[in-house]
Amino acid sequence: MLKVENIRKDFPILSRHVNGKPLVYFDNAATSQTPQQVIDAIVDYYSNYNANIHRGVHTLSQEATDKYEAARQTIQNHFNAKHAHEIIFTSGTTHSINLVANGFSALLKKGDEVIVSTLEHHSNIVPWQMLCERTGAILKVIPMNVEGELVMSDYDALLSNKTKLVFVNHISNALGTINPIKEIIDKAHNVGAAVLVDGAQACPHVKTDVQALDVDFYVASAHKMCGPTGVGVLYGKEVWLNKLPPYQGGGEMIAEVTFKKTTYAELPHKFEAGTPNICGGIAFGAAINYMDNIGFDAIASYENELLDYGTQKLLEIEGLKIYGTSKHKTSVISFNLEGIHPYDVGTILDKMGIAVRTGHHCAQPIMDFYKIPGTIRASFAFYNTKTEIDALVEGVKKAKMMLS
Ligand code: PMP
Repeated sequence: MLKVENIRKDFPILSRHVNGKPLVYFDNAATSQTPQQVIDAIVDYYSNYNANIHRGVHTLSQEATDKYEAARQTIQNHFNAKHAHEIIFTSGTTHSINLVANGFSALLKKGDEVIVSTLEHHSNIVPWQMLCERTGAILKVIPMNVEGELVMSDYDALLSNKTKLVFVNHISNALGTINPIKEIIDKAHNVGAAVLVDGAQACPHVKTDVQALDVDFYVASAHKMCGPTGVGVLYGKEVWLNKLPPYQGGGEMIAEVTFKKTTYAELPHKFEAGTPNICGGIAFGAAINYMDNIGFDAIASYENELLDYGTQKLLEIEGLKIYGTSKHKTSVISFNLEGIHPYDVGTILDKMGIAVRTGHHCAQPIMDFYKIPGTIRASFAFYNTKTEIDALVEGVKKAKMMLS
C-alpha cells in the first residue's frame, strides 16, 4: 500500500503556495514533479564529479562515465531490454521519434504504407508526415470512437503487405486511454511491419516490458516520470538499430574519421553524437529507481482510486462533460463545462492554486473528432490526494458560477 503522506514529503515543490493557496498540481501529464532523491542526484553530479564522459582518463571523467552507463543499465532493467546498447539516450520522446523517422527515410520507398492513430500527440504525427513527404510513403490513420478508443476492426482493414511501419501511443495524453498495444504489435508483425510505441504517457503509470511486448521501438521522456527535462530514451531492437543510419553526425558517434570516409561507432554510441545530457541521464536513472522502489502496482492501484473518485465527483457538476470514457484508462480526466471556454476555467483555477492544462494538448485530431477547441485536463500522479481532488471540484464549481 502506498503511503501518500510520506511520499509527498519527498517532493519539496508540493509544499509551496501559488496565489496564496496551497499548490494543487494536476498537470502531471505535461510534466511530473521531482523528488528530493532526483534533485540530490543532480546536485551531487555538479558538486562532485561534473566532467565529460567516455574519453577522459582522469578520475572525474571515469566516475561520470560509470554513473552514466549505470543509468543506462537501470533504464535497460526497468524496460527489460535484452541489451544495454539497445537503450539510446535522447533529449526526449520527440527526439527519439524523429531519430527513428529520419532513419526510415533510407528504408521506405514510394507507395509503402505507414499507419498512425487518431489518438496521437503531434510528436508522433508530424515527424512521420515529414517522412512521407521525403519518401512518397502513404500515411493511413486508425480512427477513434466516441469513448476515445481506437477502432480495431478498422486497423485490421488498414494492414496489408504494403504496411511497413505502425506508430501508436501506449496511452493517450489528451484522454488517458490505454491502447491495446500488444494486439497492435502482433497484428503489425503478421504483415511484416515494424512498430514504434510512444510511451511518453505510459512511463509514469506502467512498467513496460519491451521483450514481452516484442515491440521494435519504444520511446519515453524522463520528465514524465519524476526525472528532469531534456532527457529521454529510445529503446530499439538491436537488429533495427543496426539497420537505421545515424541521425546526427559529430563526436562520440564515430569509429574513425578521415576526409575520405568516416566509419560509425557501435551501438549505442552511433546514435549519441556530441556531449550528451550527462547529468540528465544520471538523474533519469535516479528517477526510475525512485519509482521502482515505490512499485508500479502500488502506483497504478492508488491512481485508479484517484481516477474513480475524481470522475465521480466531477460528474456531479451539472453541464460537465468528460471526454475519454474508455474502461481502459489512466488517471487523466479531460472535461469541459457546457458553454464555457476551457482556458477561462484554467485561469480561474490557477488563481486558486490549482494547476491544470487547457487547450488541445498537442492532439488536435482528437479535438477535431469531438468538434471542440480543447479541454480542461486534470492529470493525477501517485503523490496527489483525494483532498486535492475535492479542491479541484470546488474550484470548477466556483469557475462555473463566475463564468455562467
Ligand atoms: N507523446 C506523448 C503521448 C506525450 O504526452 C508527449 C508530451 N506531452 C510527447 C509525445 C512529447 O514528449 P516530449 O515533449 O518530452 O518530447
